[in-house]
Parts: sequence; structure tokens; C-alpha cells
Amino acid sequence: MTYAQSQFATLKQTADPDAVDAIARLVEQGADHELNRINVIDFSRQNGLDEERAIATFLHSARLGLFDLGWNVLCPGCGGVLGAHSTLKALKTEDYHCALCACGYKPNVDDQVEVSFTVNPRVRRIAAHDPDTLPVWDYYKQIYWSSGVDFTEESVATLATEVTLETRDLPRGESTTLSLQLPKEFIIVFEPITHAALFIDVQGEPAIEPQDLSIAYGNEPSPTTTISLRPGPLNLTLKNQSNGRALPSVFIAAEALHHLIGQRKPFLTAKRMLSNQTFRDVFKADNLSIDQRLQITSMTFLFTDLKGSTALYERVGDLAAFDLVRAHFHALLEIISAEKGAVVKTIGDAVMATFVRPVHAVNAGLRMRAAMDELNRKRGTDDLIVKIGIHEGPCLAVMLNERQDYFGQTVNIAARVQSLSTAREIHITGPVLDAPAVADVLKQREIRPIQKQAALRGIADKIVVYEIP
Ligand SMILES: [Zn+2]
Repeated sequence: MTYAQSQFATLKQTADPDAVDAIARLVEQGADHELNRINVIDFSRQNGLDEERAIATFLHSARLGLFDLGWNVLCPGCGGVLGAHSTLKALKTEDYHCALCACGYKPNVDDQVEVSFTVNPRVRRIAAHDPDTLPVWDYYKQIYWSSGVDFTEESVATLATEVTLETRDLPRGESTTLSLQLPKEFIIVFEPITHAALFIDVQGEPAIEPQDLSIAYGNEPSPTTTISLRPGPLNLTLKNQSNGRALPSVFIAAEALHHLIGQRKPFLTAKRMLSNQTFRDVFKADNLSIDQRLQITSMTFLFTDLKGSTALYERVGDLAAFDLVRAHFHALLEIISAEKGAVVKTIGDAVMATFVRPVHAVNAGLRMRAAMDELNRKRGTDDLIVKIGIHEGPCLAVMLNERQDYFGQTVNIAARVQSLSTAREIHITGPVLDAPAVADVLKQREIRPIQKQAALRGIADKIVVYEIP
């Protein structure tokens, strides 16, 4: 049995067998580029797999050393990878700069950090393990652009022919001079390895004599500048003074280029990863570093608390109460995971969980309530009542007490909203009620939310909340 085969056999014990088979097939038969920075969302769609199970299986396979996790900071403009990191810990707090778009960005984990999986070299050696050996367009496709840019054979052909005037593979220390005919367009001379760009605004009367321009590539990225030239002949000298090769390319920044990079497909985001139960379980230690604070624009928090647990212990005795509380936790945790959420922590008889989308938290809340009814029905009592609150908003992902936790007013409000519930009713806030698909879920169950004003402890203003009866 090879190393890979034995690891796949181990993987089958913990992960979804269909997903394991699909991944094993890919490793055995896939083309090299298919094993580089795998887009799990795309992979699960192509193989008819459940997304959550495919994500969980890739995470387990990464833990076993079959794949390497990658956290890539993307440019929201062009979809280029501005920083490729092997751990979320390496994410910088300062701006990431895109030369091609001449723009700087704070890495936003909601939708600008991609999580991808690349086959480990021990399992299979692929060309992208040595990016320097990749032909120029493969470099662009596999290394420069993210797995969220939807390239097809035709679109790559368009990039090579319609969009590009010239491209060179320039070894370290070498230089070359290109003789170009500049069209009256906006031109970008882009180098994807050192992330350097020069914008040329081509305008005015055509030049008769050749114009001259020289660009040198060093190791440090230089800011993107714009110059003006006239249409017509240009001698463009390119010097590679960096420590590696350079792939300078002359692009026409017109419709064809914008169309090409505008073709996107969904990818696995860092936010979704943070709120994934398998990720929390498998990568406990390798998450954030102690001084990191990642800003998240939108996260949904669900808090639960078991009603009158002290009285419950009193009434049924420690042993029976312990079994009941355990059954309640078991049911809640299963529902959270099934609704694509993750448990951040349990505090006594309370649970704090996160969801990427409010509708999943609302579904989870309704299912939790039904699960408690079912547990009570089986026992012929009404001992178990879970009080639930849900809120959505911006927050910080941080490390607290060696656990990846969340910080901010959204979290405080979510906890306070939970405390408004005194029995089976669930409390949610305006942003949750107004979120996509939530109204449909409530309508389907013929639930009419009741609007109220609530004063929350520690929160200055009264806020509008909705009771889900
Ligand atoms: Zn860009």
C-alpha cells in the first residue's frame, strides 16, 4: 500500500466515503492543475457532493497530510492572489496592495480570503509545487489568479491573444527589448511575480519615430504609476533585476480583460472556515495568533441557555439531570453542525454558536426548540426548555483563552437578546429578520414575529427585537 492509499484508508474512518472516493480519484487521475489550490465549492458541485461534507473531508485530509491548506488574500478588483499563506496566523494586518488595480485593501475575511487545498508533494508531485517551471499562462491561472476566477479554455485563449500584446519569460538578471505597436488604448505592463505594474495612457497623434521606455523589476514591489505615450511604435526594454524569473506582460486594459476577470465562481471563504465545526475541531491550535484581530463584516451569533437548570437538578436529582443536560447538548450540537454552524464555546448550560448566514441560525433555533419538545415528549415532562437569541453584525475574530472566539458589540447584543427569552420563544434582531430567506422560513411555518422595544443591559439605546412565538 502506498503512503497515499494508507492515508485514504484512514480518512475513510472519519470522513464521508463518497467524498473520500472523489478526492482519491482526483489524486490518482486528475491533471496537475486540478490538484493545485482546489476550490472545494467547485469540486463538490462537479462531483455531486454535499458542500459541508466535502469541506469536512478536505479538512480531515489536510490533517492527515494529504493536502496543504492555503489562505490566499485576494484582490476584490481583479481576483488576483495578493498574498498566499499556509496559515491564517500569517495574515498581515496592514494593507495588501494590488499593482494591477493600483489599489490597497485590508484583508476582509468575509469574502477576500480564499481557503484552498493543494496536494502535498509526498502524495503527488505537481508542476505548481515549482511555480518557476510553469509556462506563463499556467502561472497566471494557477498562481496569480484565485480559484474564484472562472477560467475556461476559451477565456485563457482570449487572454493570450486578444488581451495580450506581448509576454516574456525573463530569467533572473536578463533583459530584453520588445518592438511594439501601441494601439490607442489603456495599456498595462504587468509582472505577476514581483506584483509590479505600469499604466500607459496611449493618446494623441500617432508617433512616427519609435518611442523608448525601460522598466526594471527588483525584489521590492514598487507603486503603480501612470505615464502617457502616443500611439505607434514603442521600444520597450524590460530588465529583470529580481532574484527569480519575471513574466512581464503587456495587456490592453479594455473590455476583453474586464470581462475575463469578471467571470467568477463561488469559493471557500476564510469566514466560512472560521464558522465550520470540523475546522474548529481539527485545527484548534493552528487558527489565529494571540495578537491577531480579524475584522468580520457579518457574522451571525446564536446563544442558548437551559431554563431553570438549578431547579431541574433540584427536581430530578444530579444523575438524571446530568443525563438530561447531556442529551440536550448532544441535540443542540448536532443541529448546529447540520445547519452549517460551529460551537464557539459552552458556558455552564449555555451554548454560543456562529453561522455564516442568519437563515441557518434561524433554522437551527427552530430545530432546537422542536428537538427539546421531542425530548420532553419522550419523557412525558416539560423539563427541558431552551431560551434562544440570535443577532447578526460585524465583529472581531480573536484568540481568547486558547480558543478562537469573537469580540465586539454584536456578540454582547446577541447574548443580551438571548436573555430576553424566558421560555420557548426565540428572540431575533432586525438584521436577522431582514436577512435573505428568513422571512420565507417563518412564513412556511406560519410564524408571525412580534415586534418589541427592548432595553438591553449594558447597551445604551433601546433596540427593536422580534419575538418568534
Ligand atoms: Zn487587482
